[in-house]
Amino acid sequence: MKKAIFAAPFTIEYQDAEIPSIGDDEVLLKVISIGICGSDIQMYHGKHKYMTYPVVPGHEVGSVIVKVGANVTDFKVGDRVSVEPQITCGHCYPCSIGRFNVCENLKVKGVHADGFASEYAAIQPCYLHHCPDGMDFDLITLVEPLAVGVGSVKRSHYKGANIAVIGAGTIGNLVAQSAQALGAGSVLVTDFMDSKLEFAKACGIEHCVNTKEIGLKRAIEDTFGERKADVIIDCAATRGSFLSAMEASRTSSEIVITGNYKDPMELEVPRIQRREVSLIGHMMYVREDFADAIRFLSEGKVRTDGFISQRFAFDDFDKAFQFIDEHPNDVMKAVVDIGSC
Ligand SMILES: [Zn+2]
Ligand SMILES: [Zn+2]
Repeated sequence: MKKAIFAAPFTIEYQDAEIPSIGDDEVLLKVISIGICGSDIQMYHGKHKYMTYPVVPGHEVGSVIVKVGANVTDFKVGDRVSVEPQITCGHCYPCSIGRFNVCENLKVKGVHADGFASEYAAIQPCYLHHCPDGMDFDLITLVEPLAVGVGSVKRSHYKGANIAVIGAGTIGNLVAQSAQALGAGSVLVTDFMDSKLEFAKACGIEHCVNTKEIGLKRAIEDTFGERKADVIIDCAATRGSFLSAMEASRTSSEIVITGNYKDPMELEVPRIQRREVSLIGHMMYVREDFADAIRFLSEGKVRTDGFISQRFAFDDFDKAFQFIDEHPNDVMKAVVDIGSC
């Protein structure tokens, strides 16, 4: 079987390997497709801080079980599954309170350990989630990024809340759709690019506003009126997006930081203290968020028509990264087709 390896920056090598043999407590996955996300792009460019080469990338996976070990009872051949890529230690304090996503020894398959850019993979069932029979593999590939959206919203008091999401790219769109599916009151998504906002509108997101001219504060006031935003979720991760979230925050607003910030910035601490603004960090997802994501996709509560904007053959993996580099604004989600079912 073939697998792809990030060997060095801008270098993808293919290896011919044996199909992995499985232990009694494992299953064998046939990988149908993988999605490419921001962290894959950082890894390809050699800009990812926490990985080392060589590594098999791929952590957004659509797959089907083709073999089960003797002791595996809850999965069978033919089951379509989504893969949760977090490897957690199970004994640190965050693990002990169920916050596996911030495990002190967290590793992620496809980043710090081998992932799924491979025709087959052996895995323990604890990483897997059942998907309904016949669920489209494209939807299964989108489960992981949607779980990020679900996890993000759940960091806040989202029920019935006015939620403003900064950034209408892949994650911002899925955060806003998650907020609606989870029962937020009213949802606004903002961006500087009309094409992303038009797509957000087509996905059924209630309010989609370009803030390039008017700024976030005005957009929130125009949309939500006097109550403004109870929750602001920052998926843009720029100095400007954070400052605009602070400026637009109201007394007792919650600001959730979901985008990956790279540089430190100074904080307006008096505003946080006097107005009881809550600043909340967010990282990936926990198991229940994955289950919600599968449910929302399979029940059509989150709309993904047109979400996969480009597809590439496994042999053209590097072309996917070149395309993304050259057309950063034209890509929602690029997918690499690895196998068929
Ligand atoms: Zn990802
Ligand atoms: Zn842990």
